[in-house]
Amino acid sequence: MTKNFVSAGLGILFFAFTACGSGGDSGKAAAAASKDTTMKSPADVTVPTTPGAADTANVPANFSGKVPPPAVILGRKQVPVLCYHQIRDWKPTDSRMAKDYIMPPANLREQLKMLHDSGYHSILPDQLYAYLTNGAALPDKPIMLTFDDTDEDQYTVAYPEMKKYGFKGVFFIMTVSLGRLPHYMSKDQVKELYNAGNVIGSHTWDHHNVKKYQGQDWAIQIDKPTKQLEAITGTPIRYFAYPFGLWNREALPELRKRGFIGAFQLADKMDPTDPLLTIRRIIVAGGWNLKTFDNAILHDFK
Ligand SMILES: [Zn+2]
Repeated sequence: MTKNFVSAGLGILFFAFTACGSGGDSGKAAAAASKDTTMKSPADVTVPTTPGAADTANVPANFSGKVPPPAVILGRKQVPVLCYHQIRDWKPTDSRMAKDYIMPPANLREQLKMLHDSGYHSILPDQLYAYLTNGAALPDKPIMLTFDDTDEDQYTVAYPEMKKYGFKGVFFIMTVSLGRLPHYMSKDQVKELYNAGNVIGSHTWDHHNVKKYQGQDWAIQIDKPTKQLEAITGTPIRYFAYPFGLWNREALPELRKRGFIGAFQLADKMDPTDPLLTIRRIIVAGGWNLKTFDNAILHDFK
């Protein structure tokens, strides 16, 4: 059940598209969404204690977990969370669907420049968590940049471009791909992203649909990959992204039990009982122009 995903990155993207192209309340070009994030939430959950800090990657390790009722979290204005996959120019062989998951570098540059010129500030998951749970202040025009699937061009193309503007992001790693150069990042590259202040999240071992896990799947897809990422970064991994953006309610306690405090889906509605484990994102489709990009950020997060 795992091998089909292991081989081709693009295969993953195609599958992702089909699998999560359903529903979602963001409509339009957002054929976009299919990645996710992971979070932990057990006893040692940590929460940022520095409201408003713009760059808080460090969170006290002993937050006792005062999570407000879901209605409070759902009542806060959503922060736009963008999801990217491959960052490269299109090839003649790329299908129309695949192009939703392939962002040409020139377009990404344009988008990041626009965000910077418009006054946006990138925030990280701990800041979002503090905002959602405690109402902690965020910088003006907050936005979160997330990257799924371990593609190396996220390191070679997106990362340098983000540095120009002081942007930090979240990289959701599918550990089966680690070291599969040149298409995927190496462990050293992941470590460098982390050392530079970006957040590393879990995206399972080989991109299997969380809704289908049973028995050992939790250990294979979640426990072992999380340990590996923690060994690489030397820090707890608290955030998760669902492959294909797909999740179900049964999965939520399983993630919490494993220490995730936040999990990212795609464009479906957040779960009314556990919004922190169903945070919304949109995929920025490769064919979007700047106006579509701007509209999505302004109107897809209420
Ligand atoms: Zn993915």
